[in-house]
Amino acid sequence: MTYKDLFSAQQAYFRSQQTKDLDFRKANLLKLKKLLIEKEQAMNEAIEKDFGKSAFETYITELSAVLQEIDYYVKNMRTLARPGKVWTNLLNLPGKSRIYTEPLGVVLVIGAWNYPYQLSLCPMVAAMAAGNCCILKPSELPAHTMQVMTQLINTNFDPAYIHVVPGGVEETTALLECPFDKIFFTGSTKVGRIVYEAAAKHLCPVTLELGGKSPAIVTADANLEVAARRITWGKFLNAGQTCVAPDYVLVEEKVKQAFIEQMKAQVQKNDYHAGASHYTQIINERNFNRLLSLMDRDKVILGGDSDKSKRFIAPTLLTGVSTGDAIMQEEIFGPLLPILSFSDYRQALEQVADGEKPLSAYLFSNNQKEQQLFLDHISFGGGCINDVIVHLTNNRMPFGGVGHSGMGSYHGKFGFDTFSHKKSVLNKATWGEPDLKFPPYTASKIKWVRKFL
Ligand code: NAD
Repeated sequence: MTYKDLFSAQQAYFRSQQTKDLDFRKANLLKLKKLLIEKEQAMNEAIEKDFGKSAFETYITELSAVLQEIDYYVKNMRTLARPGKVWTNLLNLPGKSRIYTEPLGVVLVIGAWNYPYQLSLCPMVAAMAAGNCCILKPSELPAHTMQVMTQLINTNFDPAYIHVVPGGVEETTALLECPFDKIFFTGSTKVGRIVYEAAAKHLCPVTLELGGKSPAIVTADANLEVAARRITWGKFLNAGQTCVAPDYVLVEEKVKQAFIEQMKAQVQKNDYHAGASHYTQIINERNFNRLLSLMDRDKVILGGDSDKSKRFIAPTLLTGVSTGDAIMQEEIFGPLLPILSFSDYRQALEQVADGEKPLSAYLFSNNQKEQQLFLDHISFGGGCINDVIVHLTNNRMPFGGVGHSGMGSYHGKFGFDTFSHKKSVLNKATWGEPDLKFPPYTASKIKWVRKFL
C-alpha cells in the first residue's frame, strides 16, 4: 500500500464515524494496554539492544508513562469529550450555546529516538482517545525498538485505524505530502522547521515538541547536597540523552567549589561505569563522535573516559567553560555537564533570557524572592524549582515548549485537546425573533443594538 492509499484508507475509516464512539476508543486503548503489558519483555530486550537501556529505566521513563496516559483517558475520556454548556448572550436568545469537542481526523505522529516508546506512543494514545485515526512514524535510530512497535501495532490493529510506518527521512518526507488534519512532531528544532514548512502547504496544524539548552541555576540559598543529587540523576539518566535534562549549570560563584565537591561525590556514588546496567549507551557512533568533539579535555574536572566499542562516555563535569565555547553553542544531549558560574543573580537570569527560550529551566534556591524572579524573568516550556525533569510526570500539567523549543503541548487533558477541535454551535429557537437586526436600520434600532451589544 502506498502512503497515499494508507492515508485515504484512514480518511474513509474516520468518516465511517467508528472512531467517534467512546466505547470503541476505550476498547482500543485497553487492547493496546494489554498488548504493551504482554510484550513488555520484548520491548525491554529491543531497547536494551538499541542503546543498553535497563528494564528499570525503560519502565520508569517509558512504559509507565504510556500506561498512565491510557489509564487517564479510559477514566476521563467521557468527561473530556462531553459538550460544554455555556451561557447564551442576550442577542442570541432564545437559544442554547454548546462547545462540541470533535476529533480532527487523520493525524501523523513523528517520534524521536531518545525515549522511543514514550515519545511515539503517548501522542498516539492521546490521538486515539480524542477519536482520531493515526499514522505513527517512530524514529529509525533505535532499529529494534522501531521494529517491535511496528509489529505490535501493525499485527493487532486495522491499518485504516492506527498504523506504524517504519523508516527515516525518505519515508517521513513522503508521508508529509499527505494532507493530514494534524501533525505531532517530537525532535530537533532543525527538523521541526522542515515539518512546519511541509504542514503549511496544507494549512495543517502542528504541535512541535523540540529541544534546546535547558539551564539549571544554583544559588547560594540552595541546599547544595539536594541540588547535586537531583541534577546528577537528571543529567545522567539515559546518559544525558533527554530533551529536558539540565544542559548546563549556572552556579553562584561563592558556592561553586562546594557545589562541585557535592557533584563529584554524587557522580562517584552512583558508579556509572562502562557496561553498568544502570547506565545507558550513546545512541550511535555519530553522536558519540559529536560528544567527544564537544569535550575540551583541559576543562574536564571529572570523568572524560570513553569506550567507542561500548559507545560509553563517562559522566563528565567541566569547568572554566565560557559561553563562546562549542559546548555552549548547541544542545549537548549527552553526559557532559559544563558548570559555569555567576556573581549577580539578575545578570544570570538575563544571560538565560538572551538565548532561545529553553524547553525547561530549573532553579535550586530556597529564597522566595529568587524563585519569583526566576518565574518572572525567563520564559521556558516548563520546569522545576528544587528538582529537575520530574515536572513532566504530572499529567495535570501541560508538557511542551515555547519559541524555539516548540509549540503546543500534551499529556492528560492537554493531549486530548491537542488532537481535538472545539466546535462552537448556537442552537437557536425558531420563535421570538426581534425585528432589530433586519433592515431598514433606523435610528431607534441603532440605539437598541448599542444596548444589546
Ligand atoms: P530528529 O529531529 O533528528 O528526528 C526526529 C524525527 O524526525 C525522526 O523520526 C526522524 O526520522 C525524522 N526526521 C529526521 N530528519 C528528517 C528530515 N530531514 N525530514 C523529515 N523527517 C526527518 O531528532 P532526534 O535526534 O530523534 O531527537 C533529538 C532531538 O529531539 C533533540 O533536540 C531533543 O531535545 C528533541 N526532543 C524533544 C522532546 C520534547 O518532548 N520536546 C523529546 C525528545 C527529544
